[in-house]
Amino acid sequence: MDTTILVVNCGSSSLKLALYQRQGLKPLGTALAERLGSPEARLTVRGKHKRCHALRADDNHQSAIHSALDAFRQAGLLQGDPVAVGHRVVHGGEAFTRSAVIDQPVLKAIHQCTPLAPLHNPANLAGIEALTGLYPQLPQVAVFDTAFHQSLPPAAYLYALPYHLYQEQRVRRYGFHGTSHRYMLGRTAAHLGQSEQNTSLISAHLGNGCSITAIRNGESRDTSMGLTPLEGLVMGSRSGDIDPGLFDFFIQQGQTPAMVSQMLNKESGLLGLSGLSNDMRSLIEARDQGHEQAALAVDVFCYRLARYIGTMGVASGTPDALVFTGGIGENSAVVREQTLAHLSHLG
Ligand code: ADP
Repeated sequence: MDTTILVVNCGSSSLKLALYQRQGLKPLGTALAERLGSPEARLTVRGKHKRCHALRADDNHQSAIHSALDAFRQAGLLQGDPVAVGHRVVHGGEAFTRSAVIDQPVLKAIHQCTPLAPLHNPANLAGIEALTGLYPQLPQVAVFDTAFHQSLPPAAYLYALPYHLYQEQRVRRYGFHGTSHRYMLGRTAAHLGQSEQNTSLISAHLGNGCSITAIRNGESRDTSMGLTPLEGLVMGSRSGDIDPGLFDFFIQQGQTPAMVSQMLNKESGLLGLSGLSNDMRSLIEARDQGHEQAALAVDVFCYRLARYIGTMGVASGTPDALVFTGGIGENSAVVREQTLAHLSHLG
């Protein structure tokens, strides 16, 4: 019997699909549809070989998924239909503490979280609708970026704002990258040969987006991203923590909120500091060739990360491990070393 599971990560103009066997961690094949809704829309399918297919400008999520599944079949990666679909859904608000099989109440709850992730949740819903249109009977599961962090205590998730903003609009820290932090917990517990419930760690996900989480006895107890993924560590093009008074400052200088938001999300972080790139590997190469701003960007990145690692012990208790993942965390011994050099007092 075919046991292929389809995994879907749906963005507003892009779509990532992967096929997995029930037990396997390595995808059998992946598909990336980009620039949906434009004349340049295209689909790249990777299995044993890479194949590119043109899409039509009027292709939507549903027809792009259909084309991708056809391409998977042609490449021999999929026989028949998948047995289940897993969707990455960015924001589950306070409604979801774990993954959920999608039914009408779950769809409604995801929809109600849209004000918290206005760019992401509608795209995720479009992916779910597309699959429902193609396979009305297929079990579909929503896997939330936020769910793992629903165990944060109020002291960690509340901002010191008027309390009614939490009561009425659910303004609070949610945290993201939950699937990655939860995965790090599982792998760390397995490496240490102990149960997840007995495992405490500080996990740092360092990719283009970066976040750090304190996990105590198998539960997320604090995390650096907040209401949105802008808070916390220095990231590729996001500022991470800033003085919220900066907003006032720039508004008084004549900037609009949209301009400030664009600057904080797209023009800051490693890119903004270095004036060169949002890519850590390029910055380390540039630093080694004497580029001073690249060196500064790496310094600020590592110092902020170390500062967060230092404070996360408040929530994790004595951790069993400090774990790094994401493109930077996994691959850059230089960043890990420079960060840990700030933390020698912790042993
Ligand atoms: P995304 O969040 O887009 O999935 P990744 O987790 O792939 O991103 O991480 C991308 C980052 O990882 C980039 O900044 C890239 O330069 C960095 N990276 C990948 N390999 C290395 C390396 N060997 N040394 C330093 N940085 C690396």
